[in-house]
Amino acid sequence: MSVFYDTHAHLDYPDYASDLPDVIERARAAGITKIISIGTDLESSRRAVKLADRFAGIFAAVGWHPSNAHEAPEDIRPALRELVRHPKVVAIGETGLDYHRLPGVKSGDAEENARYKLKQAEIFRQQLEVAIEAGLNCVIHQRNSFDDTLAQLRPFAGKVRGVFHCFGEDAGRMRRVLETGSLVSFTGIATFKNGQNVRDTIAATPSGRFMLETDCPYLAPVPYRGKRCEPAHVKEISETVALVRGCSLDELSAATCQAAAEFFPKLK
Ligand SMILES: [Zn+2]
Repeated sequence: MSVFYDTHAHLDYPDYASDLPDVIERARAAGITKIISIGTDLESSRRAVKLADRFAGIFAAVGWHPSNAHEAPEDIRPALRELVRHPKVVAIGETGLDYHRLPGVKSGDAEENARYKLKQAEIFRQQLEVAIEAGLNCVIHQRNSFDDTLAQLRPFAGKVRGVFHCFGEDAGRMRRVLETGSLVSFTGIATFKNGQNVRDTIAATPSGRFMLETDCPYLAPVPYRGKRCEPAHVKEISETVALVRGCSLDELSAATCQAAAEFFPKLK
């Protein structure tokens, strides 16, 4: 059986409160040997670290999601500096920019939107700084904000890299990400009927420059679409990605696990 990693899961979410040991056991049985649980604020990050303590094969990323930016403290760096010292904290994130639901859209309050964007940019920058200090890379979330996210990352290129997670952009944008030294990762959207755009990008992405993830509990692949997603479903994602790329599962396993080991140096 080919081994894969789930490089982006939200195992601290209440969706798994009742059966997390079973979820992790099913992942192991499916050959998913390493899972990174991603923090979305400080509490979520702390829960992810606790899960990493509790389960072998679980690792944590600590950070603050841009959609929660308005609730973030002025300076999140001191708390993150504490958390990154843990041996199983392998990345900062998820961080980035999200312009999908701006608070001022309904009211037409342009100033409110500007303030919100500024706060997102501020905590994104703080997280890039902590990542550089700690020698870690960043898990990047962007939605309707591709150009601004890449522009904010670019001055840090050479010091810190990002993985543009749940990548759903075209091949041209994928190449712009790779040019900065960053990577992309693909979810179960690859299996969706309406996922041809992502499949085209998957086919065009060079080997070693992408990883696999579920983003669970969201985005369960076919045939589980619409249900709660879990790390075991990387198996279905890997089968589709191998098919799209015309490679074997073993080749895909080697390329994606090596990319993850190199991107997350503490993933051991
Ligand atoms: Zn996520």
